Amino acid sequence: MRKKHMTLMVIPHNEDRVREFGLSWALIWGACAILIFCFAALIYYGVGYYVRLNREAKFATIEAENRALMEQVRSVDANLLKLRQRMNDLVTRDQQLRQMADLPPEGGEAQKGMAGRLNGAALAEGRETPASHPMVQKVSVDLDHLLREADLVKGSFQEVASKLDKDIDLRNHTPSVSPVRPFEAWISSSFGSRRDPFTSEREMHLGLDICSRMGTKVMATADGVVAERREDSKFGKHIVLSHTRGLETLYGHLMRFAVEAGQKVKRGQVIGYVGQTGRATAPHVHYGVRQNGRWINPLPYILEKNELTSRPAFANRGR
Ligand SMILES: [Zn+2]
Repeated sequence: MRKKHMTLMVIPHNEDRVREFGLSWALIWGACAILIFCFAALIYYGVGYYVRLNREAKFATIEAENRALMEQVRSVDANLLKLRQRMNDLVTRDQQLRQMADLPPEGGEAQKGMAGRLNGAALAEGRETPASHPMVQKVSVDLDHLLREADLVKGSFQEVASKLDKDIDLRNHTPSVSPVRPFEAWISSSFGSRRDPFTSEREMHLGLDICSRMGTKVMATADGVVAERREDSKFGKHIVLSHTRGLETLYGHLMRFAVEAGQKVKRGQVIGYVGQTGRATAPHVHYGVRQNGRWINPLPYILEKNELTSRPAFANRGR
């Protein structure tokens, strides 16, 4: 039997002779198989390339999103730092209020202890989610910590408020304001070690020097009784008020007095006027707070002390 085959004829359009090619079916099927294989390979690699391209584009987008998110997390972290500073101010104010309300400072200690525990707990929680970025974990821990601390401070403020509400007498007899109105005065020398303005030697300054203009009103910082009203070479004309729980306040270097010895006074009542009597280099009030005979820093007993730290506008004029 003859082998199956095809004949391919090439007929030129000029006088050249006709060419004939004999093709076997095996050759034709082989050529078809190669063509199909090439076509399939082209599709396979084409689709693969497209998928890879797509994946890279997606990856770039995710990377950009990630960068933007990290920027946001960093900005949240910076804001948290500011919040932390404000919270610290609140905690300090809370401790002053507790001291003034004669409450134990345990609130503060408990807060610190609890803060430590919270931190540890939150970190442990953080470790359970390894997928989150350390920065995100830190922000989340800080936020959690701050929220709980805010709750603690709020609770302590409520405790102080209810204690003071219950004990109006205690509140009225506890020094809590500046003896000179803050917009008329500033602190020129604080409590503690300093150089004596006369001898330049180291000394303990047992009060605050509150500068103001000569003749400015000096007010009682709490309800009390005028225990002393006299003049000496150190504090010049000065007044000592007796309050409650062994608390006394001293107002030195006055120009003149506005109350008598033994007189009862109310907080805010004018007791004298700013002067420069005794050992003073400029008109000011030496304000002292004494508890059971020991001089203590009066600053915690002045709620508006932040307003007293900067020099008021009138004092800067002409400088
Ligand atoms: Zn002084």
